[in-house]
Amino acid sequence: MATASGPGRSRSAALEALTLAGSPGGKLSAAGAYVGLADAAGINGQDLTGKIAVADRGSLNFIDKYQNVKAAGAVGLIVVNNRPGPFSGNLTTLSSFPVVAVSQEDGAGLVAAAKAGKTVAIDAPPTVGLTKALNVVAGTSPNLNCRVLVGGHFDTVPGAPGANDNGSGASNVVELARAFASDGLDDGLCFALFGAEESGLYGSKALADRLKTQGKLPAYMVNLDVTGIGDDVEVIGPAELVQRAIDLAKNIGITASKSQLPANAGSDHQSFEDAGVPAVFFTSGDFDTIHTPHDVFADINAKELDAVGDAAYAMIKSLLAEVARGQGRP
Ligand SMILES: [Zn+2]
Repeated sequence: MATASGPGRSRSAALEALTLAGSPGGKLSAAGAYVGLADAAGINGQDLTGKIAVADRGSLNFIDKYQNVKAAGAVGLIVVNNRPGPFSGNLTTLSSFPVVAVSQEDGAGLVAAAKAGKTVAIDAPPTVGLTKALNVVAGTSPNLNCRVLVGGHFDTVPGAPGANDNGSGASNVVELARAFASDGLDDGLCFALFGAEESGLYGSKALADRLKTQGKLPAYMVNLDVTGIGDDVEVIGPAELVQRAIDLAKNIGITASKSQLPANAGSDHQSFEDAGVPAVFFTSGDFDTIHTPHDVFADINAKELDAVGDAAYAMIKSLLAEVARGQGRP
């Protein structure tokens, strides 16, 4: 919990605010400046040096709003909800100054104060350690012995419904588990749905760390993230694995191609690669609406989702066969 205050008619009023995850705590007081959505049009060339920016929620990720007002010189950011009630948000990385959120009701007066350049204040406790996330991990035995681990994250960012990122990949993971279970489960096959990917790959890191400590890292990891919008299947990973995935997809009439993540994007395969586990990452490659309110179920293309799932299924089968032959990594 944090507070943000703006002047009432004659004296200041304290408003309840929530500190965004990733924001440091801190107390500051400065002239307010209203910046609309905190995009270029909203900031409109204002010099925000030493000021606290007051922005509307929507359109941009919180991190983008933060970076835009910081670039213009702001020393604090208050985000006003675009629907009734308070909200909690996540910057997905650490900010250098406090970023808090207030309800739409409280925000109206704050916006008016900021438009008038009046003094606003933020009193924010730090958020570190205040959130919890869960992984869901499944295998044939509670005593996991994963040789091939198939996973995807099930969280999204505040303000984004998260259909493509990553309801799509999470549903692929669940459907792959169902398909493999109906074909007879392999003891070396595990499935994981990761929490807290968007805030820094925390879920996948925690599982990779645990398996490493136990000496039970899998031979391969298969990641599914943003798999619901696009025209073909994109595969990211070491060249040999990517080529194999492309060839296996071709065998079943699916066009797949080698791809790479856009700059500054990340996903759960990295946690396993960092632990020394080769990972193959399947995606549909259209990142246009992720992390926005437009990432909605209606835009998910079932055919594309199916193609990614089928391509991943073929690759997982191949990896399991390789591990069973003892040709995979030890
Ligand atoms: Zn994602």
